[in-house]
Amino acid sequence: MGPQGAGKGTQAARLAETFGIPAISTGDIFRANIKGGTELGRLAQEYSAKGELVPDEVTDEMVRKRLGEDDVRSGFLLDGYPRNAHQVEALDQILGDLGWSLDGVVELTADRDELLARIAKRAELEGRDDDTPDAIARRLDIYDEQTAPLTAAYAERGLLARVDGIGEIDEVTERIVAALADELG
Ligand code: AMP
Repeated sequence: MGPQGAGKGTQAARLAETFGIPAISTGDIFRANIKGGTELGRLAQEYSAKGELVPDEVTDEMVRKRLGEDDVRSGFLLDGYPRNAHQVEALDQILGDLGWSLDGVVELTADRDELLARIAKRAELEGRDDDTPDAIARRLDIYDEQTAPLTAAYAERGLLARVDGIGEIDEVTERIVAALADELG
């Protein structure tokens, strides 16, 4: 978990490689569908262009389907899901149905000025159509209001590793791997 610009996508890809598991990014799946012009993509675009969350029923179903694929059987990493209290419950339900549970939750932290600088840089490099000033501000607000409070619930379950996302990419990866080993055993 972590706000936009904290480096979730970058770190998820590296952790996936380190642990030999797939990284599942709900944002990437939506973007692939938008690009491919699917019905799911058309729906997702309506929300993501404004920085809003795609409705839970749609997102939960997509995650359920993805976690039913063969490559996740020996582990997986979720990037960008869950993002609100409903999705936390949905994920518990999906994992419960599969007979699995979460091993850990990583929260990547960064202050807002740093985030805005990183997102501006990404907007230049990647040209994501939801990196407009309004959509960026909305995504950060949603994170503060709906997503950040979820970390408390995971901390209570003893699953949370909080990691400073500011620094060199390699350094942050090392911090995450160390935090997972230390805090989650
Ligand atoms: P991201 O790449 O994680 O920033 O996601 C890009 C966009 O995809 C978000 O602004 C949302 O519109 C949508 N999205 C990604 N993950 C979720 C989620 N867990 N729930 C709802 N919408 C999501």
